[in-house]
Formats: sequence, C-alpha cells, structure tokens
Amino acid sequence: MQRHFPHLIDLDNYPVSSWNDIIDLAIDIKRNKHIYVGACNGKIMATLFYEPSTRTQMSFQSAMLRLGGGIIGFDNPATSSVAKGESIKDTTKIASSYSDIIVMRHFVEGSVKAAALTADCPVVNAGDGGHLHPTQTLTDLLTLKAEKGTLSGLTVGFCGDLKNGRTVHSLLKALSCYDNNKFVLISTNELKVPTYIKDRISASGKEYIEVNSLEEAIPELDVLYMTRIQRERFGSPEEYERQKNVFCLDAQKMRAAKKDMIVLHPLPRVDEITLEVDDDPRALYFKQANYGMYVRMSLILSILNEDISTKPLLVGKEMPDIKCSNPKCITNMENTLKGSFRNHGGILECEFCDERLLME
Ligand code: ASP
Repeated sequence: MQRHFPHLIDLDNYPVSSWNDIIDLAIDIKRNKHIYVGACNGKIMATLFYEPSTRTQMSFQSAMLRLGGGIIGFDNPATSSVAKGESIKDTTKIASSYSDIIVMRHFVEGSVKAAALTADCPVVNAGDGGHLHPTQTLTDLLTLKAEKGTLSGLTVGFCGDLKNGRTVHSLLKALSCYDNNKFVLISTNELKVPTYIKDRISASGKEYIEVNSLEEAIPELDVLYMTRIQRERFGSPEEYERQKNVFCLDAQKMRAAKKDMIVLHPLPRVDEITLEVDDDPRALYFKQANYGMYVRMSLILSILNEDISTKPLLVGKEMPDIKCSNPKCITNMENTLKGSFRNHGGILECEFCDERLLME
C-alpha cells in the first residue's frame, strides 16, 4: 500500500490550522534566521518546472539552500527525458526516488495531483496551468498577516485575469475560510472568476460582487490584488489582444484609495501597474515576493518534519468511462489516468481540475 504523504496540491489538503501554523513558523524563521540554518541538512528537493518561473522556483531553491538541504531538477523539460516523450507519471516516480520532496509546476491542469498519485515522496504544486497555485497563496496570506495584522474582516479587490489566474483562485478559496472577508471581483465579462470558485465563496457565507471598473471599486478596498492578463492561456492572439491593457493601476487611481490600502501582485507585472506606483509605500508586491521565500522555508520544514495532517488526494469516485469536459485537464492527456469525480449537488466535478461536467 502507498504511504500517505503530506502533498500540497490545493490548500484544501491541509486544515486551516496548518495554514496558520505555516504562516506563524515563517514569521519566526524571518525573525530568527540563524536558528533554522542546517534544519534540512542531508535532505534533497527536486524542482520539476515544465513552465517558466522566476520567483516560485528561485524562492523554493533559496529556501532549501538556506535550510542546508540540496536541490536537483530541471526548468527546461527539453533537456530532460520529457523531450523523449516520458510521462509525468514516470518522471515523478524516478525523481521521487532521488529526493525527499518534489516541487512541480506544469502547464496542464490537474497534472501535479496526477504526479503526486505515483510519487514516493511529498509533492508540492507550484502551479498547474490556470488552475491553482497554493504556495503563492501561502505567500499572500503571510504578507497579509504581517502587513495588515489579520486575515479577517478585509475587503479584498481582485483585478485582471480572474478566469485564468491560478493565484486568484487559490487565494479566494483560502480567504473565504477566514471571518468577515468580502471580495470585489474586477474584470471584463470574458475574464470572470470560474463558477466553482464563486460557489465556494458563497458556501462559506462570504459576500462578493463582480464589477468592471477599477476606478469605482478602489475607494472601498483594504487590499488590491492586481494580476496580469495570462497571455499563454488564451486560445488565440486575437482574444488576448482584446483583453490586454483594460486595467491599469496608476498614481491617479492610487489617490482615490484608502491611506492604508495595500497593493499586492503575484508578479510578473506586464503593464497593469505603472512604474510610478512602485514608489508608493502601499505598493507591497516586491516585499510580498520576499515573504515567499520564508513561507516556502516554513512549508518545506513542516512537510519534511511531517508536522501536517493531510487528507487523501482523491475522495470521489473513479469513473474510467467518463471523460472530463476540460480539454486542458490532465485526464485528457495521460491516457493511463482514470477520471475521478465528486458529486456536487447532482453535478459531477473532476477531482483533477475541478471542472464541472457538461451534461447532455
Ligand atoms: N507567477 C504567478 C503564477 O505563476 C502569476 C502569473 O504568472 O501571472 O501564476
């Protein structure tokens, strides 16, 4: 029987108390760095990055090196056996026999969960297509806790590509678990938050509104979470051209914001925040990227020390004859993988990408 590892595919895998513990430990690591030097001596982390990354990959690597561990892996699958057609399943199986923890980013939705199913060590999702990005969310939660002093009672505006922005999906789900948060979802009609995420907000009893003007929304916000339009997720260059440059945060809009509103952005920025905003003390996105390293140190330590209780990866029903209707789902790409679905009020929901099945 396979061992039950504390994989982090979606923050839902861990109880909220564990998120809080990881954040508190990150705060302690940031304050008392010397105590944690060598805490992961002799451990190895594999970073398997099938998609570009700057902050996530480097902050994970730096986190492990600061803890005294070693790193292996690739960030260009063209130089690994992936280029010869190796499946995610086989690559992960091998990488997990060389390492104590795997951090993986992939352009296919649900792929990191699929990888975790075969791994012989814990696997962390560093972003799976336009689906989820739980370690960015831990970064965002730590930033909010450190800079606003709370994770509750906040009015948070999300602006930009809310459809394809995986950081938005993970953060909305997470902030819905804390009391009295409200969400203002600022996007074009084409780039709205997926329904399954909105259902999660409503099920938690939190309020959200959907608007299309950043100017009108900004005065109410405690936090503004800006995002870029995710060019690589569009079906055609024309579709992207129609959506880009719609939202731009500049000094003039900042003048209408609260004096203590903070601006976050998972980065990279394209042109949705003008450079003049960088000098505003409320612009915290570079500081946020630095918090990411501490939260990843905390996560690596917590996982390797097995300080986290975790839920099984699949809780629904295996249905090999049913296909997920999301063409970007891993179950439609790796044919050895069987579909598995949860029942959401009579509708089947894919356990890999969260897509709700279109019933005919
Ligand atoms: N760096 C974030 C991500 O990997 C945000 C972005 O790419 O826009 O999802």
